[in-house]
Amino acid sequence: MRRHWINTVAKRSAGERDLGTNQVVLAATRSDSLHATMTQIAELLTANRGYAAARSNVADPRPGRHMAVITCMDARIDVFAVLGLHLGEAHVIRNAGGRVTDDVLRSLALSSQVLGVDTVVVMQHTKCGLVGITDDELRDLTGAELGFFPIDDHAAALREDVDLLAQTAYLAPLVLIAGFIYDVESGEVEDVVHWERPA
Ligand SMILES: [Zn+2]
Repeated sequence: MRRHWINTVAKRSAGERDLGTNQVVLAATRSDSLHATMTQIAELLTANRGYAAARSNVADPRPGRHMAVITCMDARIDVFAVLGLHLGEAHVIRNAGGRVTDDVLRSLALSSQVLGVDTVVVMQHTKCGLVGITDDELRDLTGAELGFFPIDDHAAALREDVDLLAQTAYLAPLVLIAGFIYDVESGEVEDVVHWERPA
């Protein structure tokens, strides 16, 4: 494979020379592009070592950082990348809006009581389809007679969801709950609300 790669570079250089480009400049360009390519490959390999190391977590189903993240299903949110999480470190529970529904409570009952989770992050996001729309409008849109948990105001909705988690008796193992807003355009997270279980 190494030999093949070197041949590819040599062929590309020959092509450039045919265009009559100055040989000295070419040599520098070739050296720079070789260096850039090697740097890119080194970055891939370094990233892979982090990923492979994280795989040591897969023997244990308990999240390594004792954490669960609840967020929206929106395709623009790469939860692990946004929060610097790795494989095996967190439960990720997603639905429309990233709201605390009965099914989220069901999952967190297992996360907290069985799988060692003591920290929850609820992360809503900008440009969410559940903001500025009503349950009636969502029922008309979908034909589904459901409660959709629309969001009027992110801070208010986050407080409501964090309070619900904090007050749910069977989630007693939770000691820290945070509410974030993720900006899908800038990629930045805003820390909106925190709750800590009183000692
Ligand atoms: Zn959303």
